[in-house]
Amino acid sequence: MSRQIGALRETVARLHAELTRYNLVAWTSGNVSARVPGHDLMVIKPSGVSYDDLTAATMVVCDLDGVLVEGDFAPSSDTAAHAYVYRVMPEVGGVVHTHSSYATAWAACGESIPCHLTAQADEFGGEIPIGPFALIGGDDIGKGIVATLAGHRSPAVLMRNHGVFTIGRDARAAVKAAVMCEDVARTAHLARTLGQPVPMAQADIDALYDRYQNVYGQQPVAPVGS
Ligand SMILES: [Zn+2]
Repeated sequence: MSRQIGALRETVARLHAELTRYNLVAWTSGNVSARVPGHDLMVIKPSGVSYDDLTAATMVVCDLDGVLVEGDFAPSSDTAAHAYVYRVMPEVGGVVHTHSSYATAWAACGESIPCHLTAQADEFGGEIPIGPFALIGGDDIGKGIVATLAGHRSPAVLMRNHGVFTIGRDARAAVKAAVMCEDVARTAHLARTLGQPVPMAQADIDALYDRYQNVYGQQPVAPVGS
């Protein structure tokens, strides 16, 4: 198990660099976590450590009640929210939280992002939903994330007056959802400032989502002669 956790520490540390690369975070805000498959554990960012100082060694390991199991730092202040999602959604292997500017502006207004773009239909299968207001500390944020995303196509929720939480089958997928959520939120904002965005037919959104989730990308190629 220690080799598995070591590899996940590397992965989670490296993925934090994507949050700064895509301008999703300021100062020490934002965090990435990964479930340790087969164990009731997760690897998560330490609290209050500069992004420049995040390494595999500074990541911390917590159980799924958010209690520190291994590490030299206190875990992220959002650990309880990540832990709740892992406890309740067994299919989730990664969770990301940011206050990325455009998506969080929609959260500040308490508005879901309606689906007016093919890229949003691809990634999110429709609107990016607004979740409830919840105070940090206990399970309230986690409950709000799960209540909004369970049974929803979108891997991203805009928690009202707060920011973005995303989920994925692994931490990389959750980071991708956070990057794409901000991209969509920015374009949706620009579209609103230009005029009235044009609605898309639900059948088109469904077709785009199905194609992107099931067909798009590199498919396994059968070896020659097989
Ligand atoms: Zn936050």
